Amino acid sequence: MRIPRLALMAGALAGVLFAGTAHAATSSAPSYKPVLTKNKLYKTGKLGVTACEEPEVTSGTVDEAKIYFEAVMECLDKAWSPVVKKAGYRFSRPKLTVLTKVGEKMGPCGRFPAGAQAVYCPQVRSIYFLLSDNVVEEPSDLALMQVLAHEYGHHIQQLTGIMKAADVAILKNRSESRALEALRRTELQAQCLSASFVGRVWNSLGRPDTDWTILLKGSHNPVASLGVRNSGDETHASQASNKYWLERGFKAQSADVCNTWTAPSRRVY
Ligand SMILES: [Zn+2]
Repeated sequence: MRIPRLALMAGALAGVLFAGTAHAATSSAPSYKPVLTKNKLYKTGKLGVTACEEPEVTSGTVDEAKIYFEAVMECLDKAWSPVVKKAGYRFSRPKLTVLTKVGEKMGPCGRFPAGAQAVYCPQVRSIYFLLSDNVVEEPSDLALMQVLAHEYGHHIQQLTGIMKAADVAILKNRSESRALEALRRTELQAQCLSASFVGRVWNSLGRPDTDWTILLKGSHNPVASLGVRNSGDETHASQASNKYWLERGFKAQSADVCNTWTAPSRRVY
């Protein structure tokens, strides 16, 4: 009995190794620029703030919603400014511009697209956030804080040179599937960065854990952030990939785990 069993085990192990190697060969990341793969952003430790006080929302007016999002922006500024400095880049806060209608102009970034909640315009370093009726009524919905943190994540990508290099990988790529993969890596990184903020301040928010688990289940549509992005299935990564990167960021409370540029392709589908 002894010999066949060992042989069987060896065979099984070889099979595993072979499968692993074969998989790695088809699924490893394409080679990207060092500013994407080895950015010092990934060696900055936990975010700089542990508490965020959300203003109470009672009246359901545009002014109140604005106050709410501006307060969250201040938390984001405090959380990210030491991180960006630690990574060796100059920090500046993004602007927050609120819009009340789809189609309103966003400086050089065209018109606010239907179906989006927020857009980051890198040229003017501004987040455009849509205050539609349902948002005004419920601005403290965790999903909205997360969307704001996601757009802020694009600002962090802008400050650290990631956005510029990502744009080249997206727009100058001859292969459409490679371009889309780079786009998904960009979006999933913003997801991970957003979750690292939410995770960092989580205990101060006094929210039930179900707020986060519901968000994890529903988050499969990172908001398109650059004018060129159209909505095809391949531009938005799968729910499984979104959940993976959100959970990573949330647990680590740090950008260190948000290097989507060296992750195997199967993690960004
Ligand atoms: Zn985005």
